[in-house]
Amino acid sequence: MDELRTKLFYEQKNGYDLIGTEERLAVEDYCKGYMEYLDNSRMEREAVVNAIALAEEQGFVAYKPGMALKAGDKIYKNNRGKALMLAVIGKKPLSEGAVIAGAHVDSPRIDLKQVTLYEQDEMAYFKTHYYGGIKKYQWVTIPLELHGAVVLKSGEVVPVVIGREKGEPKFVITDLLPHLAKDQMQKTLSEGFTGEGLNILLGSTPYADEGKDRVKLAVMSILNDMYGITEEDFLSAELAAVPGFDVCEVGLDRSLIGGYGHDDRVCAYAELKAIFDVKDPEKTCVCILADKEETGSDGVTGMQSAAFDCFMEDLCVEQGVSLRRCFENSFCLSADVSNAFDPLYPEVSEKRSDSKVNYGMAICKFTGSRGKGGTSDASAELVAYLRRLYEREGVVWQMAELGKVDQGGGGTIAKFMANRNIDTIDAGVPVLSMHAPFEVVGKFDCYMTYKGVLAAYADK
Ligand code: MN
Ligand code: MN
Repeated sequence: MDELRTKLFYEQKNGYDLIGTEERLAVEDYCKGYMEYLDNSRMEREAVVNAIALAEEQGFVAYKPGMALKAGDKIYKNNRGKALMLAVIGKKPLSEGAVIAGAHVDSPRIDLKQVTLYEQDEMAYFKTHYYGGIKKYQWVTIPLELHGAVVLKSGEVVPVVIGREKGEPKFVITDLLPHLAKDQMQKTLSEGFTGEGLNILLGSTPYADEGKDRVKLAVMSILNDMYGITEEDFLSAELAAVPGFDVCEVGLDRSLIGGYGHDDRVCAYAELKAIFDVKDPEKTCVCILADKEETGSDGVTGMQSAAFDCFMEDLCVEQGVSLRRCFENSFCLSADVSNAFDPLYPEVSEKRSDSKVNYGMAICKFTGSRGKGGTSDASAELVAYLRRLYEREGVVWQMAELGKVDQGGGGTIAKFMANRNIDTIDAGVPVLSMHAPFEVVGKFDCYMTYKGVLAAYADK
């Protein structure tokens, strides 16, 4: 009976039971690089700048339309400083398709409004407009840093980072003390904190003179000293408050990584490392770091933008190949995180189908909500291909579904790739506390996602 059971049943194993010492060391080594990348990439602009720096170390050069390209050439295209596309040209023509991996580098956060600075009762604040899907109560009374860019009237881009360096000040959104929270505690979690209530505390010292708004003036003059900006410059700025925790190992066994923005920089880094490590690929490999996924993938830097088609068309034109033919024969891993089964909240999950920490790269055949609404639903043929590939290449993976049926749902860039007539499937790292200021992932799954993307890039 045992033999028959082994033969007929599908059984999942904890990933740590499937790898040896050598691969355990590879997991640790890989995660060191990822933790450093994540720590310094708290906004899409920083994620792009850091990715370009890593890519240039690996011999990637900025692509210019009309550039003559041959197999093995490594190029990148920076889309407005907020999204990035990299490619390694394959031996086969693009008419046979490309192997694409697409992740996103934007994460939920607290954006500043354009008219943001104000003083109230001798305290200075920023007004904000949150970005992406957040549970607002998680963002109060935690250390925040200020990241982003101010674009001066002249067009000069002034990058802003305050709070990342040791010794720099942080910021905070305050909350009521429990002693006076009788009314607040009666509210639901979604009513307890409002969007307009998420105001960031900036300072409390008045400018040493007489007149109104003296604290605001003092704060503005510090910003003027630091960056040469005036209040009007906020109108053309993209600034955000992001969590001010350092990325760190979590747990006594150090098997987990805690930090802000694993969704989806954990997959972005996996793709980057994979495209750096692929050697002489048969098909052209493409790595996408997209923006605006958390707000629906709209806009010029989102995955619905023609920027991707434009880049791919340039490569196709150079080879005298039709873009549509290229897409028809391409394969895309939509590299995005999945919900990890959380033993503290089993009620929202269907245990057999949720992805689990330490069970490897999580492959999601479909996303969406209710009756699979809004999903691209990858074909069974595609799943079978990955089963073959990953068995051959020793990639530990698992099937994933986002919680119980009718419990909620979500989407990724997958459908926007699939709508281009590209065979696409979601795959990525399971995350605990997704979209929280401090998300948690398993090191093992980070490494296996890298290995999974590399296997796809390197496939003959
Ligand atoms: Mn995501
Ligand atoms: Mn997300």
